[in-house]
Amino acid sequence: METSTTIDLAGFELAELEDVVAGFGRPRFHARQIFQWIHRRGVSDFAAMSVLSRELRADLAAACRIETPTVLRSERSEDGTTKFLLGLADGKRIESVGIPEARINGSDRLTFCISTQVGCAMNCAFCLTGKMGIDRNLSAGEIVGQVRVLARSFQVLDGRFTIVLMGMGEPLHNYDATMKALRILCDEHGLGLSPRRITLSTVGVLPALERLATEPIMPNLAISLHATTEEQRDLLVPINRKYGVEELLEACRRFPLKRRERITFEYVMLKDVNDRPEDARRLVRLLTGIKGKVNLLPLNEAAGIPFERPSDERVDRFARILSERGVTVSVRKSRGRDIRAACGQLITESSRRKSSGQMLAGLIAT
Ligand code: SAH
Repeated sequence: METSTTIDLAGFELAELEDVVAGFGRPRFHARQIFQWIHRRGVSDFAAMSVLSRELRADLAAACRIETPTVLRSERSEDGTTKFLLGLADGKRIESVGIPEARINGSDRLTFCISTQVGCAMNCAFCLTGKMGIDRNLSAGEIVGQVRVLARSFQVLDGRFTIVLMGMGEPLHNYDATMKALRILCDEHGLGLSPRRITLSTVGVLPALERLATEPIMPNLAISLHATTEEQRDLLVPINRKYGVEELLEACRRFPLKRRERITFEYVMLKDVNDRPEDARRLVRLLTGIKGKVNLLPLNEAAGIPFERPSDERVDRFARILSERGVTVSVRKSRGRDIRAACGQLITESSRRKSSGQMLAGLIAT
């Protein structure tokens, strides 16, 4: 690649950018300007950074680049959900989804669903991404880059959106890059997002979860629980064999939450597997003493996924059992199913199989 000899600034924190600028023998404050132009204006071409002197722009253009994922395809669903197939510098492909939501109180919300890995190693039994296996981690620049591409596309570079790390990959399995991306996104000199507008969803990689508990930038936490016994979770979420339900919930009890903050427990609903009244009652007991709420995700079915989606009645009954016992519960609406962009499940062809030239399928259940 012709650009590989230059430094990619896309994943640099402000302090690192300052070092680059100082390296050119220029005042460090220029770093703030560059950071702003990248993250707040979505510019990836130094020539366009008109506040900088012509000389500095030329220096930067000679030695640096701002790698930005390219939109290979975007598909818009009837409900406004838009799925982006993005190409990375090395030819790998990922998907990100933009989900506009009209809310009853009139305030519209826009959520970006962002990937953290190419593929995923967790291999959850009902997840399409898991079928791909893991290809590689995304860099901080590639994680932030998805946000930049979507923000530009929806014209919200002012930060009027929320982020869910629920695309391809397990964020806590790519801890350093994910946390670095969050620091960049929350930096007041860039987009200045509040961590409260970011939700990290995880199967619960315990050592990483314990580390997250000590971070200065703390996103909302969503735990993919999906089962109420060790045996069942062992089958549905294989990492449970290493870090079991009991340990995971202990870590959740210890997780530092501010007043009014709660952990979201995601629970994918699989017909006749984990959708019975006794499962609901067991879930209530498990969550006793945890500041949490439950988000039910009726399965998004797909070829190759050996489970069925329960009926709405089944889901309602399950939800009622929880709410009658004082557990806050919501049912996640599927968005973008007509373009196979419904929540959680994204899959792209691996580069090894590029010959087919086609994305296999995409689903991200929101
Ligand atoms: N690796 C992270 C983020 C993944 S996606 C995690 O596991 O939390 C976000 C959510 O979508 C997870 O709770 C995941 O279990 C769920 N999900 C995966 N496949 C699904 C499907 N077919 N239908 C509904 N939800 C699914």
